Amino acid sequence: MGADLDADIEEVLIDQQALQRRVAALGEQITHDYAGRDLLLIGILKGAIMFMVDLARAIRLPLAIDFMAISSYGASTRSSGVVRILKDLDESVDGKDVLVVEDIIDTGLTLKYILRTLAVRRPASVKVCGLLLKQKARPVNIEVDYVGFVIPDRFVVGYGLDYAERYRNLPYIGVLKRERYISMEDGEAEGEPGPR
Ligand code: 5GP
Repeated sequence: MGADLDADIEEVLIDQQALQRRVAALGEQITHDYAGRDLLLIGILKGAIMFMVDLARAIRLPLAIDFMAISSYGASTRSSGVVRILKDLDESVDGKDVLVVEDIIDTGLTLKYILRTLAVRRPASVKVCGLLLKQKARPVNIEVDYVGFVIPDRFVVGYGLDYAERYRNLPYIGVLKRERYISMEDGEAEGEPGPR
């Protein structure tokens, strides 16, 4: 791990200004759509943290926030779809208009699991706001109501997204150099369940 975080990035996909502009636009749209409703933002830890705090501040409505942490199993650059809840919500979603705030939707399996878990808790409505949606064929049919950016099918880090818990603090979304994750996978245990 070098001292310079940026040195591990092959390409900046979405810079800080573009992120800010898009999050502001999403906030405006959500403000419009949820006026007069009982909005609850549910952030999926840890990847959605940066997006969640910026989005919440861009929504000009009274709202509540809560968090859920999910663990996924398998190699850390891929989603296995096998997930479990590490931290559940603090409050009930009964009767609330829930907006799930996700960092990235790849296969859609994680989101499908979250939506299934929430549906049985009788919210008034459930929608999804994903910062990034990978442009690829998805094995599951999933609807993302608010999408920040559609991106190519590459492994990205930054703005909350990690590789092996690193790079979350990059202020932009970038593609990690391939040699960075190959060398780390050589040196670190993979396949262990852990917080995302
Ligand atoms: P899915 O279940 O949709 O395949 O994957 C969703 C989760 O996998 C995301 O919430 C994220 O934790 C992880 N993930 C998928 N693609 C990427 C990626 O390109 N970069 C990072 N850092 N995580 C990803």
